[in-house]
Formats: sequence, C-alpha cells, structure tokens
Amino acid sequence: MNASTKAYEELLIRLKNTALLASCSAVLEWDEQTYLPPEGAEHRANQLALLAGMVHEQATNPEIGNLLLELESNSSSIDDVFEQANIREARHEYDRATKLPRRLVEELSRVATLSHHAWVQARKNNRFKDFLPWLEQMIDLKREQASATGYQGKNAYDALLDEYEPGATSEMIEQAFIPLRNELVSLVSAIKNSGVTPDTSILTRKYPVEKQREFSVSAAEAIGFRFDAGRLDIAAHPFCSGIGPGDCRLTTRYDEHHFPGAFFGTLHEAGHGIYEQGLCKEHFGTPLGSSTSLGIHESQSRMWENLVGRSHAFWDYFYRPAQKLFPEALGNVDQGAFYRAINDVRPSFIRVEADEVTYNLHIMLRFELEKALISGDLKPADLEAAWNEIFFEYFGITPDTSANGCLQDVHWSAGLIGYFPTYALGNMYAAQFFIAAEKELGDLSQLIARGEFVPLKEWLNQNIHQRGKLFRANRLVEVVAGESLSHEPLIAQLQNKYSELYNL
Ligand code: ZN
Repeated sequence: MNASTKAYEELLIRLKNTALLASCSAVLEWDEQTYLPPEGAEHRANQLALLAGMVHEQATNPEIGNLLLELESNSSSIDDVFEQANIREARHEYDRATKLPRRLVEELSRVATLSHHAWVQARKNNRFKDFLPWLEQMIDLKREQASATGYQGKNAYDALLDEYEPGATSEMIEQAFIPLRNELVSLVSAIKNSGVTPDTSILTRKYPVEKQREFSVSAAEAIGFRFDAGRLDIAAHPFCSGIGPGDCRLTTRYDEHHFPGAFFGTLHEAGHGIYEQGLCKEHFGTPLGSSTSLGIHESQSRMWENLVGRSHAFWDYFYRPAQKLFPEALGNVDQGAFYRAINDVRPSFIRVEADEVTYNLHIMLRFELEKALISGDLKPADLEAAWNEIFFEYFGITPDTSANGCLQDVHWSAGLIGYFPTYALGNMYAAQFFIAAEKELGDLSQLIARGEFVPLKEWLNQNIHQRGKLFRANRLVEVVAGESLSHEPLIAQLQNKYSELYNL
C-alpha cells in the first residue's frame, strides 16, 4: 500500500465516523418531530447540542486537513475519478466547516433559535415589525458568514447558496429564472383568463384518515419506496430523513377533508426517500454515498409528485382503487373531473399550497428578495413593501396580511438563506431528467398507466442516485440529459399539460 492509498483510506474512515455520529442526531431529530412527548423537548435539545458539537469537532479535526494536503500533493498519481470526487468534495466540506469561526457558529445557532421563536409569535400576531429586529440580526450574521467562507465573483449570496447547491452561482440561476418567470407569468394569466374553473370541492369531501394512509402507502410502495428499509409516520411538517443504509423515514400529515395534502405530500417525500434508498451503501458517509445537492434531491421528489403523480396516466392506473377506497367522496366523480381538480391552477398567497405552475413564481420572488437583503440593496425594514410589490407584479394580487405574505415561511428565521432557489432548480432538473429517461425507456406515460414504475425508478437509481456526488449538479445534468440547466423542458411540459386542461 503506498502512502497516498493509506492517506485515502484514513480519510474515508474519518468521514464515515463523522457521518455515523451525525446519523445518531438524525434519529433523535426524527423522533423529536414524531413521538417525543412535549416535556422531553429540553432534554432532547441538550442531546442534540452535544452531538452537534461532537460532529463539528470531528469534521474539523486538523488531521483531516493534513490527509487532504497529502492527497492533494500526490493528486497526479490518483487517476480514479471516484477517489478524485471524494477528495474534491471532502476538501470543500472541510473548508466550509473550518472557515467559520466558532463564535459565529454559536451565534448563528443561538440567534436562529430565538429568531424562530419570535417568528412563530410574529406570524401568529400578524406583525412583521415584531420579527424585524431578528431578521436584521440574522441578515448581518449571514453576511458575516458569507465573507468568512468567501466566494468567487461579486455576489456574497453565492457563498450561502453554495451550502445547499455546491458550485451554483446566482448568475447561473438568474439565467434560467428570468426566461422561466416571463413564460410563467403569461401562462398564469392565460389560465386566469380562460374562464375554466375546475370544481375543487370534490377534494375536500370526507376522506377517512385510515384510508388515506392505506392509499398513500400503497402508492409510495408502487413507485418503489421500500418499507422494509423505511417508514411513514405523522409529523406537523412533512419531511424525509435518510438516516443511513436501510433506514429512511418519511412523514406526512392527514386532513380528513383535504385529499391532496397527505397523498401528494407522501409521493413527494417518497421521491426523496427513493433517492436516499438508492445511494450506494458501501460509500455511506463519504461524498460518493451522499446526494448531489438539494436541487437534485428536489428534482426526485418533484418528478414523482408532479410529473408522475399529477399525470393523467398515473390516474388511469390509480383512479379505480381510489374510488374503491373513497366511495363516498369519489363514487360519483369521473376521472376527468378528478384529474382537473388535482391540477387546478390559481394565484394564491401561500407557497406550500401552490400548484405546479405558480409554485416557481413564489420561489423567484424569494430569490430576488434574499439576494437583495444580502447585497444590502434591500433593507430588512423595507422587506414587506418589496414583497408585496413583486407579489403583485407576478400574481396580480397583493397579500392581505403579513402572515400570508413575507412572514409565511420558516426559512429566514432559521437562517436558511440561499435555500429557496433549490426548489425551483429541482423543478427544472426534474423536467430535464424526465425527457432523458423517455429517450431511453420510451413513452413513460404508457408504462405509468400500466402501473409499471420500476423502469423509471431503476433509471434514476443508475443515472442519478448511485453516482452520489461524483459530479456537481450542473455537470450531472449535462452528463444525464446532454444539456446544461435549462428552463425550456419545464416550460414546455407545463404549456403542454395546461393548454389541454384549460383549452388555451
Ligand atoms: Zn422536497
């Protein structure tokens, strides 16, 4: 064994041990959101803080830096692309973790907890000015974080974006967002003027919770989520947590009088879960065994939720079982009416309830605003006015309250700045991957209508999941779809689908 082989193996052991420790917090976090009795919250916070400190210590151990230097100085002798990718991404993560002074890490965590609490109250009382002092502190800290980690080019925002979408820049995102926004604004207005208004009341009839669970589980299983290596539980905020090989936890929430929430929420989280279950076990804890980026993760959930789950073909297969399970709600509803209802498009204030056409506009609004907050072009005090102005420009309506406007999302209070664009990137990547899959597998709607989901799932396993972080997202899409990030496949897919639904 030569020196660099030895250093590489030592590096992997360190990375894997850190990931193993981090996955212990993941179990505790999942439990906190699902089963923890309220009185245990403080003890749980102490457990998580202890583990977070230990993980940070391991991840920033100077020995990792030494091993990386040794490997980098011998880089010409490493011709294995997988090893190169692991070293490249380990360096990236090590630098991010070590560049932040401990004081800043602790201050960010402290302010995030307090600011989150203030945000919950401010949203409840509908008063933006109660949240403003916390937002100001948070923006200052995030600007400090950006200058500590550093960035190429002139946008400090890129340093924050990089945490969620490694390698992405605001310039690259703008190039896709600007044309996408123009197309979407005109599509939304054409839909609004079409005079077609689907009857969505059929979705708020009575859907017994137990039956919803049964149906959601059977659909998640059908598309390829493995319940012998995962679970579905109830939580206030739906999420997917890939704890480790063989253990992926999904959550959803049920409303007896709202069918789409739990059903499409479960498909969405199962899409994330199929990605987690598709990662290579033997690479667990290293970049090659981790997802590429949040944008690529979201491409998987959105593909199963929207491109598959809200398609006509999907309901060719699933509508009869749905009618059987919910005879009271759907017995007298034909499939066409149901299909139109689940694809109802209309401008609305709340992002998480938005349809697939207006959804991306909600994201672009947030992207514009958070970029301006970080650059200093927008003062936090002027956020609400700016929000309402852009909202009107995109949607033709103005939020009636702060809670329905700039106070609606948890992200900024928690310091998650640079996160929002990954949702829209996911939608664009999903459309690009879907076309690439069809080129290889043929017309997917025919397979979907027969309930044959395995070919698509396996295609995603091979082309995306098993590659881990071998490529950055912008390169992965080139390798898989033969083109760089583009808004065109998404807009074509939406125009196609909604022209038919709304007689455009
Ligand atoms: Zn998601």
